[in-house]
Amino acid sequence: MAEIGESSTFVPTAEKSSRSARSADNPAHGHPGGRAGRRLGALLREIAGCTQCPSLAPHRQFAVASHGVARFGLMLIGEAPGRVSLEQGRPFSNPRSAIFRDALAALEHPRFRELEDLFYLTDLVKCHPAPAGRSTANRTPSTHEVATCVARFLTRELATVGPSRVIAVGRLATRHLLGRPVRMAAVHGLWCRHPAGFRVLPLMHPSPRNRRGLIQVGLPSPEAYRRYLTRVFRVLTRHVDGLFPECA
Ligand code: SF4
Repeated sequence: MAEIGESSTFVPTAEKSSRSARSADNPAHGHPGGRAGRRLGALLREIAGCTQCPSLAPHRQFAVASHGVARFGLMLIGEAPGRVSLEQGRPFSNPRSAIFRDALAALEHPRFRELEDLFYLTDLVKCHPAPAGRSTANRTPSTHEVATCVARFLTRELATVGPSRVIAVGRLATRHLLGRPVRMAAVHGLWCRHPAGFRVLPLMHPSPRNRRGLIQVGLPSPEAYRRYLTRVFRVLTRHVDGLFPECA
């Protein structure tokens, strides 16, 4: 497992200045720039040296955070890197969350084939949370780990990318983006307003542990979830396509 910054896999491809990223809805500000990329690169180096969570230190493996593009102002935020994502060196590769990749592929969009083509991808917690003594297994990050990592890094990623739309995957990501405890069935699939002005789309995590909730929101099977995601991605790709006026 390469550490952040050691492999090009971990270098963000953000191409806009923070100001232009904040104005991603405006094609006039759509030119690639270097400031956001440099800031995110510096952030990655900081993450690589971060030891703020002693609970993660014994089997610390670095995150697959900060992948993708920032210039469209779209962020996809998960909970924490899982084992498979770490092994493959890219987020949203675990069996459960790979459904996000499948859903985008099903769209067959000529420009956006991978999540990294469309989104800036990151997690609440940048290090892999594993149960004690089982470094290859996954566990839910603790409240303290989430609060620490969000305060140190996610808030700065949000400020640098300046998203217009954020997809929050799961209860923890939704809770932190909305700043309050939530009942996922009540907010799933609704665009909510973040105090900073961008919009947040909470999505129930496709884990089988959420089976009852997934049925409640009309997504009783992985296939139904994938089809739903494909519709969400279709809307977002149209939004991005609309940022770039066609030649007369
Ligand atoms: S989870 Fe975040 S705050 Fe905690 S050690 Fe890893 S990078 Fe640092």
